[in-house]
Amino acid sequence: MVRLRARLARSQSSFGQGLLTLLSAKTLDEDTWEEIEDTLITADIGVTSATQIVENLRTRVKVLGTRDTEEVRGLLREELLNQIGADADRAVRTEPHSGRPAVIMVVGVNGTGKTTTTGKLARALVGDGRSVVLGAADTFRAAATEQLQTWGGRVGAPVVRKEEGADPASVAFDAVARGIEDGADTVIIDTAGRLHTKTGLMDELGKVKRVVEKKSQVDEVLLVLDATTGQNGLRQARVFAEVVNVTGIALTKLDGTAKGGIIVQVQRELGVPVKLVGLGEGPDDLAPFDPEVFVDAILG
Ligand code: GDP
Repeated sequence: MVRLRARLARSQSSFGQGLLTLLSAKTLDEDTWEEIEDTLITADIGVTSATQIVENLRTRVKVLGTRDTEEVRGLLREELLNQIGADADRAVRTEPHSGRPAVIMVVGVNGTGKTTTTGKLARALVGDGRSVVLGAADTFRAAATEQLQTWGGRVGAPVVRKEEGADPASVAFDAVARGIEDGADTVIIDTAGRLHTKTGLMDELGKVKRVVEKKSQVDEVLLVLDATTGQNGLRQARVFAEVVNVTGIALTKLDGTAKGGIIVQVQRELGVPVKLVGLGEGPDDLAPFDPEVFVDAILG
């Protein structure tokens, strides 16, 4: 996986530099605090978190009576880490259990990067010496199946697929069966992200889950969210979180936005930790999310 810090620093440093420049002002007056809050909101951190960070920071700066830039930077680092939640369990559950592979469902709106994330995750696992089976359960788009097939060939993971229009749940069932047969460690199922109707989505993903549970269990439901889509993306993500029990978020396209604050907002909104971040289109452009590395990349 990529060197997270350098890659994040490239996309997120303008956000952090803006904050640090404001914090190094001679006098931290009302206007400056407001500008700091605006900078946080502009980075998609969310109004609630931005307000909390500014309130806490303001109080702490006042109590300590400090104007030392390094010290203030340290306080800001702590406040950002508090909002991100440094202690959350961010491990993606990929470990098999007694003869049965771990099963990961990848869900999210089309175009967010589901197939790419599935491929990259498979690549990382295969690179670690694990065996992986991929399930092409987005049977509504022939191109999605083809794309997953390409990833499978690239990373060395067999792809279970069916014809266009086939029942997604039957693909999931066969993928898990193949995983058991092959003694695979992990099965990753790329699902369809059509936001037609909420009940339609619920039925579809519910059925995939039930069918998997006939053979194994669903260990992880990764919701893929495109970091560049802001409030609209969050709204759509919320629908998915309402219909399936999401266990982790893969936040993609962080390379294409300086609005990394979305990590804070999405976790707060959905109550689920960001576990993976996507930093490009290449096979190695996926990294486990590490809050400390993220905050240090922001603050330079
Ligand atoms: P899906 O419809 O949700 O399966 O989305 P895809 O996996 O097909 O991805 C949609 C587009 O986003 C493709 O062009 C991907 O290469 C691109 N993409 C996915 N993840 C990332 C990422 O982390 N960074 C960038 N820059 N592009 C990405």
